[in-house]
Amino acid sequence: AYWPSSGELVVENLSARYSANGPKVLHDISFRIKSGERVGVVGRTGSGKSSLTLSLLRCIYTEGNVQYDGIPTASVNLDALRSSITIIPQVPELLSGTLRQNLDPFSQYDDATLNDALRAAGLFSLQSSDDESRITLDSSISSGGSNLSVGQRQILALARAIVRGSKLLILDEATSAIDYKTDSVIQSSLRNELGGDVTLITVAHRLQTIMDADKIMVLDAGRIVEFDSPKEL
Ligand code: ATP
Ligand code: MG
Repeated sequence: AYWPSSGELVVENLSARYSANGPKVLHDISFRIKSGERVGVVGRTGSGKSSLTLSLLRCIYTEGNVQYDGIPTASVNLDALRSSITIIPQVPELLSGTLRQNLDPFSQYDDATLNDALRAAGLFSLQSSDDESRITLDSSISSGGSNLSVGQRQILALARAIVRGSKLLILDEATSAIDYKTDSVIQSSLRNELGGDVTLITVAHRLQTIMDADKIMVLDAGRIVEFDSPKEL
């Protein structure tokens, strides 16, 4: 019943811009990612990594063909698209309310399920159980998520993907805003807690983060200059 059920991604001649008449930031990109593959995306600042993640969900102006599971995203309702595929942006924005409301906006899951997802995402390994400022489902979140660190917000977004059972997860890793400990917690959660059938695209700033990826995509000035297994590069 859930679409996409496998998470295969086919991209053909994808171009993107931030405004209708603005300059192209991606130029005729084509690639394929098989179901369950782990792909790392690298490239210097401004090369188009975040733009690529946004264009896969049609959050910016796009031309070309993007298909998940053989279905063109252009033919899918945007709400359906964005609830089937999870993108964790460089700086996630949260809603004000409780952590529970952010994780489960439609009150569909019980606390045990939500806590399991937070644990799997790595939130609890970053805080001790006797800490009075410990984050729980009842913690309040201020507008945008400003009372949480960027790393904690990414972990929360990852927990949301786990709860939803997303088959395709796109992580745009935070840069300097994230400390090494938080980064390694996120990486080990991705490695150990996601099902083997989940297709994962990680935009990485440290090559070390993606050395065990199945494939690495190198972007330069909005074009793919390499796309191969780490051994071949
Ligand atoms: P970083 O490593 O710094 O995150 P990036 O590879 O993610 O860089 P993008 O953010 O995708 O790079 O930027 C690609 C191009 O798109 C750049 O030329 C940038 O100036 C442009 N761009 C990015 N965001 C916007 C925006 N909101 N409006 C207009 N142009 C933008
Ligand atoms: Mg970016």
